[in-house]
Amino acid sequence: MTRCRTFRYRLHPTVRQALALSAQLNYQRELYNAALEERVGTWKWSHRSISYVGQCRTLTGLGDLRPEVLSSGVALCRGTLKRLDRAFAAFYRREKNGDTPGFPRFKSAQRFDSLQWEDRSGWKVKEADRRLYLLGIGEIKVNYHRALRGVPKAITVKREGAKWWVSVRCVDVPAEVLEATGREVGLDLGVANLVATSDGDLILGEHFGSRSRAQLADAQRALATKRPGSNGRRRQVETIAHLHRKVASQRRNTAHQLSRRLVNDYDLIVLEDLAITNMVRTPRAKADPDSVGAFLPNGAAAKAGLNRSIHDAGWATLASLLSYKAESAGRTVVRVSAHHTSQRCGECGHVDAGNRVTQAVFRCLGCGHEDHADLNAARNILRAGRARLALASDGRI
Ligand SMILES: [Zn+2]
Repeated sequence: MTRCRTFRYRLHPTVRQALALSAQLNYQRELYNAALEERVGTWKWSHRSISYVGQCRTLTGLGDLRPEVLSSGVALCRGTLKRLDRAFAAFYRREKNGDTPGFPRFKSAQRFDSLQWEDRSGWKVKEADRRLYLLGIGEIKVNYHRALRGVPKAITVKREGAKWWVSVRCVDVPAEVLEATGREVGLDLGVANLVATSDGDLILGEHFGSRSRAQLADAQRALATKRPGSNGRRRQVETIAHLHRKVASQRRNTAHQLSRRLVNDYDLIVLEDLAITNMVRTPRAKADPDSVGAFLPNGAAAKAGLNRSIHDAGWATLASLLSYKAESAGRTVVRVSAHHTSQRCGECGHVDAGNRVTQAVFRCLGCGHEDHADLNAARNILRAGRARLALASDGRI
């Protein structure tokens, strides 16, 4: 089986290299926009659509007219055309599903920040020399903070603010099967604590960037006071973008460390299936009795929604990292519906909404058993996961 993995590293280009990368971003943006125009024009003129392969064929003529666009290799230009092709594929797919998708857009300089090399030409990963070679740009210093594994297949170079990163997509990544530990764990997604484990650990949401989130809220408020078009406003927008990246990177780091620890420690990891849980917890729409077809506010406040989406994003990152690390380590991950897991007593199995006294305290109305609410839920999730595995091994599901 071919295992794919993406490794992301910080690049440290010289001033000259950074300028060359920025110039190449501009050339590729021009190519992207020209190719988009070609697709739109052909459609309007003759109701034909141009394929990715068709657009790639026109690249050969570019060598004489615009050699600088091809200076980092034809693989980079193909990567740019592939991106446009994916944008169109997504557009058609959403349209087919009956959504109202936005048509692929022309990219401004702010919205075009990555270079993708589609195959293995025009670049070379030189891990031993701590360099990345890019055709037409040179050998860029790289911080390979962890070893690359497998065979590098494609790369993406991305600009984020003043920083540059490379993502290396590898195939044939060898599995690293870990020895069994004989331990199993259930994880509950809490609101105050991001994760509660059935072994009694509470991992605080603070580590998922809530401190930066507070700074972010302040920065957003400050933005509202800036005059449109002013330098102050532009600087504030940059500050906000920087904080967003900081929150995302804190979340990613925590998720990496936590998933590694869990996969090392446990043979079986049971998680709640967020897709199912979300269906259950969506607030019901409240019809307005005074006007037909209208709805009243149903208490699903915008702020709560935002908090939840940030929270869910953290959880989704953790869940996906857990899945791929577990697969590579030979561990089992089971997802279960979290329905009733917060109302069910971990001791006697009594289910009652009144069991949950407060956000944090669980007290069973049946047997009087008392516990931290999230830990109680995590134990129920582990039990549900074990039951599911037992059914699966009986062949009943
Ligand atoms: Zn009980």
